[in-house]
Amino acid sequence: MDAAFYDSAAKLVDAHVVDQARQVEKTNRRPVQELVDQRRLPTKGWSDDAVEKLLRDCAAMDSNNFEENVGVGEREARVLSGVVRRRHFGLAHGVGRSGDVAAVQPKAAGSSLLAKLANALALDALKEAGLVEFRRAVVLPCATGLSLSLCLLALRNQLPPTERAKKSKALWCRVDQKSCFKGILLAGLEAEVVAPRTDGSAPIHNRKTQPPPSSDELRTNLEALERRLQNNEDVFCIVTTTSCFAPRAPDDVVGVARLCLKHNVRHVVNNAYGVQCSKTCAQIARASRVGRVDVVVASTDKNFLVPVGGAVVAGNDADIIDTIGRAYPGRASATPCVDLLATLLGLGRNGWRSLLDEREAQLEGFRSSLEDVARKHGERLLDTPHNRISFGVTLSALAAKARRVKDDDNAVRDRCTKFGSMLFTRCVSGTRVVARETDAKDIAGYSFVGWGASCDDYPEPYFTAACALGASGRELADFVGRLDRAFGQAHKQLDKELRRRSDSQDSLSTSNL
Ligand SMILES: *Cc1c(COP(=O)(O)O)cnc(C)c1O
Repeated sequence: MDAAFYDSAAKLVDAHVVDQARQVEKTNRRPVQELVDQRRLPTKGWSDDAVEKLLRDCAAMDSNNFEENVGVGEREARVLSGVVRRRHFGLAHGVGRSGDVAAVQPKAAGSSLLAKLANALALDALKEAGLVEFRRAVVLPCATGLSLSLCLLALRNQLPPTERAKKSKALWCRVDQKSCFKGILLAGLEAEVVAPRTDGSAPIHNRKTQPPPSSDELRTNLEALERRLQNNEDVFCIVTTTSCFAPRAPDDVVGVARLCLKHNVRHVVNNAYGVQCSKTCAQIARASRVGRVDVVVASTDKNFLVPVGGAVVAGNDADIIDTIGRAYPGRASATPCVDLLATLLGLGRNGWRSLLDEREAQLEGFRSSLEDVARKHGERLLDTPHNRISFGVTLSALAAKARRVKDDDNAVRDRCTKFGSMLFTRCVSGTRVVARETDAKDIAGYSFVGWGASCDDYPEPYFTAACALGASGRELADFVGRLDRAFGQAHKQLDKELRRRSDSQDSLSTSNL
């Protein structure tokens, strides 16, 4: 409210009371002013009321919310349902324009401002997480897989037509998650699957500094990539993944970035949920410094705890990120931007920092309690020292007992899968059982053997569980308790079946006497 308003109000209400209110409003406005001036995370998180006020104030700057507005265009951001209007705080124009998702809309100053702030705060949050030299970030209104497609398409369209036709291949370090793979194919590229190393050996460049090799872990096959790049006229890019299910390790982005620089090949990093891992961020930051990293894509829901629907596309090279923003056809929903902005304002730098720190602080405890439960039931925690989010626990003892009940591959696999269902009925979501499939899986015409494990023939059945951002200590402890009971129940069931079997064999042999 402006000065004239307060002057008039002071004539109706006690002047000193009005003055107090004016002071409070001035104080309340300071963080908003700082936000638009500095475009960085506020140190301390905002209250929900303050965030909501910013959204409403911005909505009031959009033409659809002007009291006297008459709209005679074909798109006037009319919203029929009160529920929908409230859900969006009156923001209805979306973000971007036909030519650029980051462009300003003349009809929607408020929405445009929110989008700019969301991109700026996303960048700041990435820096805080460890991607220190990133220069640009843009929030795209689609989840990670489709965002990867858009990035690949935009980058490839930069090539002159003759070269574009020649460079049709993406080398993809196998990770058994469909979105990214389909994203590559949707972008019109042919995927060349590069299998991981299964011998646990560390890549050459960091043998000295890394933990000792583990044969449980699947690592980037740098040697195979390098061999492939000796003859690279048809290779457009390498796609690496830095967050994945154990026993796969995050890709060696530093090694790959060096190869990409040396061989002039693009490097796209699928950092789906890796922002939450400081080691991963440090590796990406280093890769961007010593080698070639064109763009890094991360999910907004997995890393920033908002509903599914967005991805942050970011990198050291602002021109590349701007190019991707410009490639986006048309307008976009403002929701992913608004959700991310509201979340980051609510957290502030301190809140974001502690969210990241809390996850890392829980890591060791979670790992060792998983290890204990595994040992108690004759299993073992897979040794995957480079994966600091996902953990694998064998189901080998369970599978061996199931085989004594019935010596049949399918029956044994079903027992392992059933263990996953047992956890799910105990209200545990997110575990994933991998027991070797006998049939190859077809994904968009490509055939994968042993789908789920990110390699053809992982030697043991296992399940995975993650220590992910936002999981509370209690949640993780509850999980470990339910896991313990599920193991107990599964073994009891199998023991019963084994007894029944030996009883019937006994009676069979008695009757034979
Ligand atoms: C979540 C995830 C994706 C993205 O999947 P969307 O469904 O597009 O969000 C891609 N790759 C990996 C490794 C993931 O974990």
